[in-house]
Amino acid sequence: MQIITKKEELQLCVAACKKEGKSIGLVPTMGALHEGHASLVRRAVSDNDVCIVSVFVNPTQFNNKEDLALYPRDLERDAKMLSGIGATYVFAPTPEEMYTSEEMEKPFEFDFGGLDKVMEGKMRPGHFNGVVQVVSRLFYLTQPDKAYFGEKDFQQLAIIRFMVERSALAGSFGNLRIVGCPIVREESGLALSSRNERLSAEEKATALAISRTLRDSVEWSEKGSVKEVEKRVTDAINAVEGLEVEYYEIVDKTTLLPTDSFSNAIGCVTVYCGKVRLIDNIQY
Ligand code: AMP
Repeated sequence: MQIITKKEELQLCVAACKKEGKSIGLVPTMGALHEGHASLVRRAVSDNDVCIVSVFVNPTQFNNKEDLALYPRDLERDAKMLSGIGATYVFAPTPEEMYTSEEMEKPFEFDFGGLDKVMEGKMRPGHFNGVVQVVSRLFYLTQPDKAYFGEKDFQQLAIIRFMVERSALAGSFGNLRIVGCPIVREESGLALSSRNERLSAEEKATALAISRTLRDSVEWSEKGSVKEVEKRVTDAINAVEGLEVEYYEIVDKTTLLPTDSFSNAIGCVTVYCGKVRLIDNIQY
């Protein structure tokens, strides 16, 4: 496995792979890797001749400076894990390698057909613009056949699919296929997240109420309306000391718009556990 920090070097490696007719799978990450990331990388390694994993804490998708500063980073540990799984290249650039100072300050504005105006997008203005800014650049640099994203960040996956299939950029990435991968959880049910590293043992136990309530809500959905289930989930999580729901919305999986039916529906939640912001979702 080779660790690459420069764009030009990455492009040379990609060109050599393409010349040999090798298929390329890309897994974009922000590092602090866990089994959730590993599941994406394993899939990319098994589906493709070459697997590129990017490890880049992308400053333009953070609208909270403290969150950016506190984001866990450990490239050495990440590289060990990736090498064990069989990744071919790790691309770990600096922010300066990825962006000019102008691009850092004022990213190009993408149009996501409204998908970015709800839930995470509403709470974190500019977040998805920053995500697409870096992901589109990674697609350009690595020319992948397939790119792998987790369903844990369901809205992100929907927006990336929109970018590749339906936006003004559609067609710019060849026959790129976006592959969505299921949420990996701890045995306890807690969705794996790099931010879990910032939870104390006590907070981690408290956070279990999030996945437990989402699981219970499937049963509730058999008897109650969408609005009733939204309220019941929100109230149940808020009733746990140390947890505060930022939003819980049941939306259509394709449009991400509010729905009054459980068919093709997903419930997306964001909860503060102390100072740590956790997200999770459940498909009905
Ligand atoms: P991040 O490093 O948090 O930006 O995540 C990189 C990729 O890993 C994204 O596509 C995430 O959706 C995915 N991912 C993060 N956590 C999980 C998880 N628990 N299960 C599956 N995929 C995940």
